[in-house]
Amino acid sequence: MVLSGVGNIEQMKENCQVFKPFEPMSKEENEFVLKMADEIKQLIAIDCSYCGYCLKECPAGIPIPDFFELYNSEKMYSLPSLHAIYGTTAAANAPASACTECESCIAICTQKLDIPTLLKDVVNTFE
Ligand code: SF4
Ligand code: SF4
Repeated sequence: MVLSGVGNIEQMKENCQVFKPFEPMSKEENEFVLKMADEIKQLIAIDCSYCGYCLKECPAGIPIPDFFELYNSEKMYSLPSLHAIYGTTAAANAPASACTECESCIAICTQKLDIPTLLKDVVNTFE
């Protein structure tokens, strides 16, 4: 299955055109893609899809997906610049430590993440 993501009918037509004529992947190609997906998944510390639904629920205004993305990058690359980006993002919005553990975000999370607990990891890494 391909999740293409489209914003209008033209993009939909363009995406459909890419698969004409449609040729299913071979067994070897399938296995390769699954192996790659598995390896990439193992590198991702927090499995946030960046859908942003939690943002509407958070009374503290914490930019949750931005922080999870920075956290994942830090675990992968460990760059000092990520700490600087965290600082400016936190200053412009709210730091991860502003989480009151109200748990409003948990029910809406499409990936069923324990957001308040994961934000503590963000705090320990960046604050
Ligand atoms: S638990 Fe924390 S991150 Fe989630 S909505 Fe409440 S304050 Fe925001
Ligand atoms: S709702 Fe969950 S998956 Fe979506 S951005 Fe928020 S933390 Fe990430």
